[in-house]
Amino acid sequence: MMMASTYRNKENTELPIVIVGSGFGGIGMAIQLKKAGIHSFTIIERGDEIGGTWRDNTYPGCACDVPSYVYSFSFEQNPDWSRMFAEGPEIQAYLLHCVEKYALRQHLKLKTEIVEASYDDKQGLWILVTGDGEKIKARALISAVGGLTDPALPAIPGINDFKGQIFHTARWDHNYDLKGKRVAIIGTGCSAVQVIPNIAPMVKQLTVFQRTAAWVLPKYDRVISDRTKTLFAKWPLLQKIVRGSLLWGSEALGPFIILNSERLSGVFERVSTRHLNKSVKSQELRKKLTPNFQFGCKRMIISSDYYPALERENVTLETSGIRQFVAQGIVSKDGRTHEFDAVILATGFNLGLTSAPFKITGSQQRSLDADWAEGAVAYKGVAVSGFPNWFSIMGPNTGPGHTSVLIYTEAQINYILQALKYLKDENLKSIDVKQAVQDDYNEGLQNRMKYTVWTSGSCKSWYLNADGSNHALYPGFAHEYTSRVRTFDPIEYKITSNEISAEDWALQAI
Ligand code: NAP
Repeated sequence: MMMASTYRNKENTELPIVIVGSGFGGIGMAIQLKKAGIHSFTIIERGDEIGGTWRDNTYPGCACDVPSYVYSFSFEQNPDWSRMFAEGPEIQAYLLHCVEKYALRQHLKLKTEIVEASYDDKQGLWILVTGDGEKIKARALISAVGGLTDPALPAIPGINDFKGQIFHTARWDHNYDLKGKRVAIIGTGCSAVQVIPNIAPMVKQLTVFQRTAAWVLPKYDRVISDRTKTLFAKWPLLQKIVRGSLLWGSEALGPFIILNSERLSGVFERVSTRHLNKSVKSQELRKKLTPNFQFGCKRMIISSDYYPALERENVTLETSGIRQFVAQGIVSKDGRTHEFDAVILATGFNLGLTSAPFKITGSQQRSLDADWAEGAVAYKGVAVSGFPNWFSIMGPNTGPGHTSVLIYTEAQINYILQALKYLKDENLKSIDVKQAVQDDYNEGLQNRMKYTVWTSGSCKSWYLNADGSNHALYPGFAHEYTSRVRTFDPIEYKITSNEISAEDWALQAI
C-alpha cells in the first residue's frame, strides 16, 4: 500500500463531491466549500431553481416565524431585512443573492433528481443514479434534502371524487383565483395559520377544518426602519449583537418549550390563553380553540392575525371532523355536507428527516432503509456507520423546537467541512463513523429524550415515529449541540487509505 502522504498534492487532488439539494443546507455547504478552496463539487437539485422550502412554499402569507436576523447565515448577514419576520419571497431572494455572490450557478445541476446512491467499496466512490438514468460518481456525498419537503396528502375517503379545485399549501395553484369562492382549508398548523388571514378577506366563505387546536403565541412582527438598516450596514457589529441577543433569548426560553414540566409549559400556556382571550370575543370559539395538550408537544405557532381572522363573518371553524369527500365538497362526521369550490390541504409534510431521501446502499450492500427501519439514527445527525463518506445536513435528531434551525445547519456544515478536508488532505479512500461511537451517542440522546415534552404522550405530532419515538429533534440547547459538533475527531472513524495516487484517484471519479 502506498503512503497517502506521498501523493499529497493539493493542486492536483480534486475531491469530487456531490451535494443533493439546494435549500439553506446545500447552499451553505457549497459556500463553505468554496471558502475553503474546494471547488470540485456539484449541487444536484430536482427543482428548476434553488431554494428548497422557500422555492416551494408560495402560499399567501408565507413567512418565517423565526426572526430574519437569526434565520439567515451568520457569515452572510443582511442589513436590509424589510421586516422582523421576513416573508417567503424575501428569504428566497436572500438565497438567490447568496448563489450569485458566491458564484454557485456554475456548480448547479437543476431539474435532476437523484433516485439511487450506492457505495462502491472497491473504488471508494458513490455511484448516483438520476431519474433519467444518468450515472454520477462522487467521492463524498452530502445529503441536504431538507426535512419538510414532500407534501403529506391526507388519506380521507373519497378525496379523488371531489370535483372542485384541490391543492396543497406547498404546491399553491396560482392559476386558480380564490376570489369570491367557497373554500375549505384542512389543517391548523403553521402553514394554515399563515394562509387563513391572508385569503379570508378575498373568498366568499372559508371553512377551517381543525382536528387539534394549537397553542398560538403572538407574533411581534414589525417593519424594519431605514434608520436601522443604515445603522446595521454601517456598523455590522450592532446587527451581530442583535442577532446574538435573539439567539440567547431563544436559548433561555428553550427549557419552557423542550422539557416535560407542567410548571414550565404552564408559563407559555398562560401567555397563549391570554392571547386567545384578547383576540377572540366568542366564548364558543374560544372553547373550540383551546388546546388539550401540553405546550411544546407540537410545534408552537406564532401569529397575531390568525385568531382575529376566525371571527370574521365569512369564516367558520369546523371541529366535528371529516368523514369523507364527495363530488361537491366534504361531509363532516356529524353528517352535514359542506359544499366547496376549492379545498386547500394544509396537512403538512411526509417527514424527510427520518427516512432515506432516496434509495441508499452503503458499504457491503448495507441498506439505509433497513438500518433505519426502527427510526433514523446517525452520529451527531451527520454521519451514519456503514455509509462511508456520506454526510447529512438536517439529519436525524438535529431539529430544534425553540430556535433557528440554521444554527444547527451551520454547525453541521462546519463539521462536514472538517471531515472532507481530512479526507482530502490525508488522501484517504474513506472515513466511516464507528458503529460503537454512533450507538453510544444515540443511547445518550434517546435517554435524554424521555425528559422532553415531545414524548410526554400528550399529543401526536410530525416529530414522532409511529411507535412514539422521536428521531427528528435534538433534546437540548442549540449551543450545546453546536459545541458537540464543533470538532471532527478522526479517532471516531474507521479510516481506509487510498491504494492509488491522489491524481489517479481523482481521475477515477470523473
Ligand atoms: P403540520 O404542522 O404538520 O400541520 C398539519 C395540519 O393538518 C395539522 O393541523 C393536522 O392536524 C392537520 N391534518 C393532517 N392530516 C389531517 C387529516 N387527515 N384530517 C384533518 N386534519 C389533518 O404542517 P404545516 O402547517 O405545513 O407545518 C409543518 C412544519 O413546517 C411546521 O411544524 C414548521 O416546522 C414548518 N413551518 C414553519 C413555518 C415558519 O414560519 N417557520 C411556516 C410553515 C411551516 P393534527 O394537528 O390533528 O395532526
